[in-house]
Amino acid sequence: MAEIEKTFVVEKTCPICEKTFRVVKTRSRLMVLKRDEDACTHYENFNPYYYTIWICEHCGFAADETTFTTKIPDRHLTILRAVLLTKNIKIPFVEERTLGEASTAFRLALKYLDLIHGKASKKAKYAHQLAWIYREAGDKTQEDEFLAKAAAFYEEALMRESFPIGELTDNAVIYLVAAIYNRLGDRQKATSYLSKLISDQGVREREPRIHDKARDLWSDMRAAKKK
Ligand SMILES: [Zn+2]
Repeated sequence: MAEIEKTFVVEKTCPICEKTFRVVKTRSRLMVLKRDEDACTHYENFNPYYYTIWICEHCGFAADETTFTTKIPDRHLTILRAVLLTKNIKIPFVEERTLGEASTAFRLALKYLDLIHGKASKKAKYAHQLAWIYREAGDKTQEDEFLAKAAAFYEEALMRESFPIGELTDNAVIYLVAAIYNRLGDRQKATSYLSKLISDQGVREREPRIHDKARDLWSDMRAAKKK
């Protein structure tokens, strides 16, 4: 029950099959318990990442809210419709997702991004949030698998995409990649990304928050090494 009170259901139109489907949205007033150094936020008694991905209950299309509410290019619609409208994929609507259902939502969303050769930055975001869901559930093996994917997608985005993407700057992504590699125990890669940020005077001046976070992670890593 507690979970349902934190969410509400709205109806939207699916860009793929054009039918009306139901979406669970999260109320914005959630109590933050803590934030991990790689941006995963923990809330009291609730995990909003379970609902990041919308799924159309009729055709099975899955993506984040931005994708559903922004015009999808025609060439992508053609590819997605060719797959979704012929396969009769039905994903039943649920008001409270289980870990399995949330994970399926992310996996489907990643699969559709592959189909349309979608942006690495978006794949990174999905993989990263899926890792966070496993982190909360205490499944370290799956968490690490998706953290590694997220890092690789973020690195691809750094090479191929132009930043900022929304509010995400390239330095913010470099920081995230460093934080992920540190979690995965790859100190060498983490250090090389962090040193880029710390030694860059421009980051210190223009993005002091990123600079400070990089310094904090650097000193946490040194403290951990001493132990
Ligand atoms: Zn649909």
